Amino acid sequence: MSSYHTLNPATGEQLATYDTLTDEQVERLIDQAVQTSRTWRQVPLDERSQALTRIADLYEERAEELAQTITREMGKPITAARGEIKTVVGIYRYYAEQGPGFLKDEKIDVQGSGSAYIRREAIGVLLGIMPWNFPHYQVARFAAPNLLLGNVVTIKHAANCGASAQAIHQLMADVGLPEGAYTNLFATHDQVESLIADDRIQGVSLTGSDGAGAKIGALAGKHVKKAVLELGGSDPFIVLEDADLDEATTGAVMGRLVNTGQTCTSSKRFIVVDSVYDAFVEQFVAKMSAVQPADPTLEDTLVGPLSSARARDELHELVEDAVQNGATVLTGGAPVDGPGSFYQPTILSEVTEKARAYREELFGPVGVVYRVPDEEAAIRLANDSPYGLSSSVYSTDIERAQAVGAQLETGMVWVNSTSKSSAELPFGGVKRSGFGRELGQLGIEEFANRKLIRIP
Ligand code: NAP
Repeated sequence: MSSYHTLNPATGEQLATYDTLTDEQVERLIDQAVQTSRTWRQVPLDERSQALTRIADLYEERAEELAQTITREMGKPITAARGEIKTVVGIYRYYAEQGPGFLKDEKIDVQGSGSAYIRREAIGVLLGIMPWNFPHYQVARFAAPNLLLGNVVTIKHAANCGASAQAIHQLMADVGLPEGAYTNLFATHDQVESLIADDRIQGVSLTGSDGAGAKIGALAGKHVKKAVLELGGSDPFIVLEDADLDEATTGAVMGRLVNTGQTCTSSKRFIVVDSVYDAFVEQFVAKMSAVQPADPTLEDTLVGPLSSARARDELHELVEDAVQNGATVLTGGAPVDGPGSFYQPTILSEVTEKARAYREELFGPVGVVYRVPDEEAAIRLANDSPYGLSSSVYSTDIERAQAVGAQLETGMVWVNSTSKSSAELPFGGVKRSGFGRELGQLGIEEFANRKLIRIP
């Protein structure tokens, strides 16, 4: 059961409540989506591409109000919220420009006579289930390539970002997409379950926690539906002895704190070789403790509130559990007093395998530092995680960093940088971080019928 209810996590102020749809309303909306999917795929590709350009244009026009809504609903610092909208504009423009090239027929060298090729076609109505941490960017990763391909999308957005969900729906209507090409569904979890079972839905994409991924993935499997699962991460950040420590510690702070640490690809486990561990930790602690959580509407705020009091309390439980199991708090370690769900930027050391924080995702501004004897031990520890989303390797020897990256069980590796998403870079993980890819050329393939045509 989902209840769409928003409040400002910086102040605790109640914002709005959105009625969930009745089953009859869901039925009507899905019927409309099915009808539109029959016509939308017939619309010439260049017209679908132009529609994406119009979406990008309108996003640019409405950027400020959309960013302000993100900040109000989930507490993202305003500068980061504007950055999110800019990335979204880039995604729609990227698929408008590059997408048609990705959808060209692909010739196959056949054995024997005749010819063959692969043609990429839409499969129909898709369901996207989206999280609150990047309310527009997550939707764009799914909607942009699929609208270009000719699929239509229905979206069940997170319960705590109703105004953003509505704003996307409105924007799609205002650019003139036909009714049913993009549909916001304020659906309950039970309705989502029924939709995944519904023969009219051809595929489902979830971005969210691994717990939700397990449920949605099981349902999709049961009903033989194609699924993409973009789930949590506990990204390792490896520092080798030849790393530039100033660059590495600045990267570590940004990697841990951007979006108040509520990013699947935030750097979460800082794995440092013994010979530079003390120097790294000294600089990392100094730079982290210099950042104070602040009002997210201010231009220079890096860390705002967590998305809800519950999110803050769950994070603090993980910190307390780590301390009870032997961890040391090097800085921070507590909620900030007063209204709003703020948490101090925190670094833990000596986190043991018994602590939940060793295996679970720390979804907030809390990093863990680990001391390891050498590169081999760093790789071993980095891979000792249920997750496998992204990773960073810091070394002035770029070839060595790549060789370390090649041994990491993650879907993405960043050399001397933390994860920074961009439209052309395929995004996704392995292990409990899910499966499938979004963005780039790979992202348009997930819900395509790659149809073989064989001519004798
Ligand atoms: P969440 O609790 O899993 O929720 C994500 C979405 O799934 C929400 O719309 C939620 O709806 C819905 N949902 C959850 N359980 C459901 C069920 N049984 N049936 C139908 N819908 C269900 O995750 P979150 O707290 O919003 O997001 C944080 C998580 O997302 C973190 O683990 C983060 O790492 C991950 N994430 C991953 C990526 C990636 O690309 N790999 C990107 C961003 C975030 P309600 O809100 O109504 O419960």
